[in-house]
Amino acid sequence: MISKYEFNIKAREDFYRRPEKYRIPPFRIYGNLYFVGNKSVGSHLIDTGEGLILIDTTYPSTSAMLVQSIWELGFNPGNIRCILHTHGHFDHFGGTALLKELSGAQTYLGEGDAVMFRERPELALTEASGCQYFEPFVPDRIMKDGDVIVLGNTSIRIVTTPGHSDGTISFFTEIEGDRGRLIAGMHGGAGLNTMCGSFVERYGNSHCRSDFLKGLEKVYDERVDIMLGNHTGHNRTVEKRQFMEAHPEGPNPFVDRSEWRGYLDFVRNRFEAMVREEEEMDVGDCIVCAKR
Ligand SMILES: [Zn+2]
Repeated sequence: MISKYEFNIKAREDFYRRPEKYRIPPFRIYGNLYFVGNKSVGSHLIDTGEGLILIDTTYPSTSAMLVQSIWELGFNPGNIRCILHTHGHFDHFGGTALLKELSGAQTYLGEGDAVMFRERPELALTEASGCQYFEPFVPDRIMKDGDVIVLGNTSIRIVTTPGHSDGTISFFTEIEGDRGRLIAGMHGGAGLNTMCGSFVERYGNSHCRSDFLKGLEKVYDERVDIMLGNHTGHNRTVEKRQFMEAHPEGPNPFVDRSEWRGYLDFVRNRFEAMVREEEEMDVGDCIVCAKR
């Protein structure tokens, strides 16, 4: 039986058929940090003064919009020097091959996901997502816990937070802007679709659950002034952008030091609710169909 938490290909079909519906004009979040993703998947650009850093490259079908967004901000995609990936699922590396071809950038991936690409590429979810023509890439650089990636005026500290995938990373970086130097941070993956019972049973990745909880603990005490999301729902990117447009002189809605812990508490509660639900079910029941 398939858990309701698993990937729902029907819900994503629209991204393949009509990606243009999900376009958002790119915008500055704070200082030299910009949003270049779409309404579903985040992609972030940092202008380091000595080249660009891009974090995640969205779906294969939305990569043309990503390239256009970088140009619209006044940057040349050819100047990307580093492409970081929060984790190795297809919706975060869809434009990587194209952008590497355009720029010659170095690609970075968490160690666990580099192993996954080599040994268990099915866990990149390309086939499960209906993108069977699309392949994982070979990363140029491997990210390990505590690594610091430095380019121009920017240093990005990497913290491994496996669970959603074996190589999921979180990162933290200082950004200079009109309110001084603030810390932007992102948890790189907390989706339950790869940690729910039916997925774990099928793919045998039962270690993911304890890994995930340890990862949440590891980053809980980080100071984060600007919480970023690799899916826009995590930090309400779209709503905040609308607020900024409506209130150009107003407070920056991305600057909120309480949001980080609030989000981590939320994902932990969701995770625990899922585990409780599974424990309460009779063996073999489907969560979606089970009637009580
Ligand atoms: Zn994912």
